[in-house]
Amino acid sequence: MKTRRDFIKISALGLGATAVTAGAAKAVLGSSLFGNENENDAETLRRVATYCEVCFWKCAGWAHVTKDGNIKKITGNDDDPQCNGRLCPRGTGGVGMFSDPDRLKTPLMRVTKDGQQTYREASWDEALGFISTKMKDLKAKHGAESMALFFHGSSGNHFSNLMKAYGTTNLAAPSFAQCRGPRDVGFEATFGESVSSPEVTDIRDTKCLVLIGSHIGENMHNGQVQEMSEAIDAGAVIITVDPRLSTAASKSKYWLPIKPSTDIALLLSWIHVLIYDELYNKEYVGKYAEGFEELKNHVKLFTPEWAYGITTLKPDLIRKTAREMANASPSVIIHPGRHAAWYGDDVQRTRAIAILNALLGSWGNRGGIFFKEGIKIPEFPHPDYPKPAWSWKDLLDGKFPLANEAVTNSVIEASYPKEGKEARIKGWIVSGTNLVAAVPLKAELAKAMQSLELLVVVDTMPMEITGFADVVLPECTYLERYDDIRATAHREPTLCLRMPAVEPLNQTKPAWWIAKQLGERLGLGAYFNYKDYSEVLDWQLKQVGSSLEEMQRIGVKKSPRKTSPYIETGTDHQFKTASGKIQLYSHELAEAGFDAMPVFTQHPEPQEGFYRLIYGRAPMHTFSRTANNPNLVALMPENSVWINPQVAKIWGIKKDQYVWLKNQDGAISNFSVKVRLTERIRWDSVYIVHGFGHHHKPLRFAYGRGVNDTELITNVMMDPIMGGTGMRGNFITFLKEDPRKEIES
Ligand code: SF4
Repeated sequence: MKTRRDFIKISALGLGATAVTAGAAKAVLGSSLFGNENENDAETLRRVATYCEVCFWKCAGWAHVTKDGNIKKITGNDDDPQCNGRLCPRGTGGVGMFSDPDRLKTPLMRVTKDGQQTYREASWDEALGFISTKMKDLKAKHGAESMALFFHGSSGNHFSNLMKAYGTTNLAAPSFAQCRGPRDVGFEATFGESVSSPEVTDIRDTKCLVLIGSHIGENMHNGQVQEMSEAIDAGAVIITVDPRLSTAASKSKYWLPIKPSTDIALLLSWIHVLIYDELYNKEYVGKYAEGFEELKNHVKLFTPEWAYGITTLKPDLIRKTAREMANASPSVIIHPGRHAAWYGDDVQRTRAIAILNALLGSWGNRGGIFFKEGIKIPEFPHPDYPKPAWSWKDLLDGKFPLANEAVTNSVIEASYPKEGKEARIKGWIVSGTNLVAAVPLKAELAKAMQSLELLVVVDTMPMEITGFADVVLPECTYLERYDDIRATAHREPTLCLRMPAVEPLNQTKPAWWIAKQLGERLGLGAYFNYKDYSEVLDWQLKQVGSSLEEMQRIGVKKSPRKTSPYIETGTDHQFKTASGKIQLYSHELAEAGFDAMPVFTQHPEPQEGFYRLIYGRAPMHTFSRTANNPNLVALMPENSVWINPQVAKIWGIKKDQYVWLKNQDGAISNFSVKVRLTERIRWDSVYIVHGFGHHHKPLRFAYGRGVNDTELITNVMMDPIMGGTGMRGNFITFLKEDPRKEIES
């Protein structure tokens, strides 16, 4: 059936021929991925400052470039406190993003030829001219607010500026609703601020680290992994709560193999023990928190015995671990996690984590959670942005009152007509996020993509989302461009530069250039008053006592702190809440009509023969982003499904057998997946690493390898507080035969 916007396979265009130089390919494929510098390298290689974009920890490094202009390797910058001179395997393999032969190479425009939709190559001038004409048209017909941006990664800043200058603030980062949003809102409701990224956890000096579904080590956030290793060496107690014996759990003193979906019950029982066994930090709570009596009454009945029946964790273990935390107080961290969108009550779960930290006196104490400090980079001068007539908040119809960023699914739902009402969003720019794999509620996404009047995708790779675009713009990789200064606030104020190590390959361009070109064509040139982004960076750096020349030389510049990272003895610290006190009882939540303190809710159980689907990360990949990176594919080509041997026995499933997965709603995985039999997972759950199972053939290294968990996530539990999309309420069963054979016959 023909649709308004058919999915187009970019491979059909004959663009497969690689334009990567022979030298570049040899440099990547012929050199050791983690190879040590050849003794002569130091003399022959030019090193160029960068920070990594393979994940969002943004470690600072050096790209080492050969005389003939190819990138031989990337190493860490010794002065960067986020990596301490060491990159993780993915960061080291980042050069594969540059050399990937499947990269997008030239702008593409959708055309209809012989009744078939296809892409044809276009010049930048033609592609940008088409987009700007459409955007002017949309603005005239529906207002600038009818455009939305979806973004992930550094390029998003450039397109956000463009969209604000154009007149819309509908800027949606899927990472808010799909990942970190519930955690951020839960901590803000308790402490008045979030734990940021990189997290302000003082793992290096902690005496006790509690991980709840947070698999540091498989999730390779560099500095955090290094600090956890140091803490273990220094004798810190690690407590890991996870239905799976993760790498972190295997390094822990205590592994609590909790029944999935029952974490709030465990957290409430820990709070109960700390209060009723008088183990909490009385001085800290008395001085800095409010709502203690309400909390005490609230958790009165939530004993470890009560939690045992829910979590399957023995009361003795719950008490013992609570005591370990109290013994370490205040040098203890109940880790806030990162991907927190699980069951739709996630703000309340992260509130419970925040409350535990508060009872133990963590925030503001060494070995707990420190106060961050950073250097504020001033904005390059530009006219004021116009004030939009409406924004993403108006799309929520009063739902999700504590959402403080655009909720991706609400923006998607506003992009197709519903209940006789016209869609409010008419055009999208999608930068660096493969929405097809990143967001749940695929039917809504499909409807939106069929309704839009303009869909522009900017990416380095032919991800699935590119097949739906009207125009595909090929962006160069992080190794070929300038981006904004990294000035993340953390333990030490630090500046870090990313600059081009080599010229962009093929017709690819940096995001700042694309945004500026579009801005000028839209009559918004005053917002892009520079020739090259290096001018912006030099101006900004000079305002904060550095310069582009200095940063090109050193890559990273650290400054001494002006304030203490911890509460100083004798001072009266004010938290950033309305009252200045930590909110054990949240007036904000109560006023918005929600529980002021976390409550445990029973979640649905799987039907017989189904198992809860849990998913996570591997050290070599960052979800879809790295799935086609030849270097990282060589390390881990596909995911596998972890199944407990008892379950496999019932099903007659063998080790390394390939099976298809089917969920509770009948959704079947596109591809089959290899079985990993392991006692390291509870019998009631299965686990897969996220980011595999691509079905777009132009991704030659990723196509058909493993399964995509998001195909099996059809039940999404929205967090009523901020719109988080809880994705852990899905159950799968196994198909041992190819289900498509049946469909075909
Ligand atoms: S943790 Fe690894 S992938 Fe992430 S930014 Fe650092 S080096 Fe890159």
